[in-house]
Amino acid sequence: MASPIALALHGGCGTPSRAELSAEREARIRAGLDRALTAGWAELRAGRPAVEAVAAAVVVLEDDPEFNAGRGAVFTAAGTHELDACIMVGTGQHAGAVAGVTRIRNPILAAREVMERGEQVLVAGPGAERMAEAAGLAMVDPSYFSTEERRQALAEVQRLQKRTGSMDGASAAQRHGTVGAVALDRAGHLAAATSTGGFTNKTPGRVGDTPIPGAGTWADEMVAVSMTGQGEFMLRLAAAKEIAVRIAYRGVSLGPACAGMIRDLDQMKCGAGLVAVDRWGRVALPYNTDGMFRASMTEAGGKTVAIFRD
Ligand code: ASP
Repeated sequence: MASPIALALHGGCGTPSRAELSAEREARIRAGLDRALTAGWAELRAGRPAVEAVAAAVVVLEDDPEFNAGRGAVFTAAGTHELDACIMVGTGQHAGAVAGVTRIRNPILAAREVMERGEQVLVAGPGAERMAEAAGLAMVDPSYFSTEERRQALAEVQRLQKRTGSMDGASAAQRHGTVGAVALDRAGHLAAATSTGGFTNKTPGRVGDTPIPGAGTWADEMVAVSMTGQGEFMLRLAAAKEIAVRIAYRGVSLGPACAGMIRDLDQMKCGAGLVAVDRWGRVALPYNTDGMFRASMTEAGGKTVAIFRD
């Protein structure tokens, strides 16, 4: 019997507060989320695999300068961009990822290329770029990723750090963000994809949770998860896989398993969010920050596009 189809995506939990978000920017962000949802849903509706749906949705968000992935990525402490991405297919547990790449227009497509080659899982830096170029993926000058807003965020965060010795006073919107998508296809297969610029002012060479299967991205036969928030915590908890483990061994369902992980991260004082879908097509989009850019579509529940709690 054909499976229900479902798609959920996020544009990160590093949102401005409601008061800081102008009506124009909110409209642009909602339109971007909507475009990504439409692109992913079209794949699922046409009966194509979940992995195509999550890749299509993430490419739209990478190309959108409003989100911290691809164009619009944050700057490192050295004023450069280093991008991380991972894609996973639940059935057969396939994964591909790239880390610290600087010239690949859509890192998620390079992650998919790594997965399709099938021999390696995570390729970093110039080696990943040479592979992407050889595969015919679009390459760009690193300045393609830069936006004025992210440049200002770097300057402000660095000023703050000089004055106070820490980045703690910076807003979530100045610091971070990520994009991700999870999907269930007609054949009952799950997939997850996540892509990020990481953190404003991160040390060059720093790799977060996003490209690490089990930390920021996970898919198996039961659930697919894409995380956002300060990746060091997700790495320490193997957070995305931990959600799958709790579903498999504690017998909890998707909603409580995801909410429990967000509670655990909250206790560690980590602002975090995630999107997840299970094999029955249920979706969860919890977070503990002011907001999370997010959208979902299911056959039973219809469409949602949201930023804050309402
Ligand atoms: N998880 C991302 C990282 O640590 C950042 C984020 O999602 O806000 O690289």
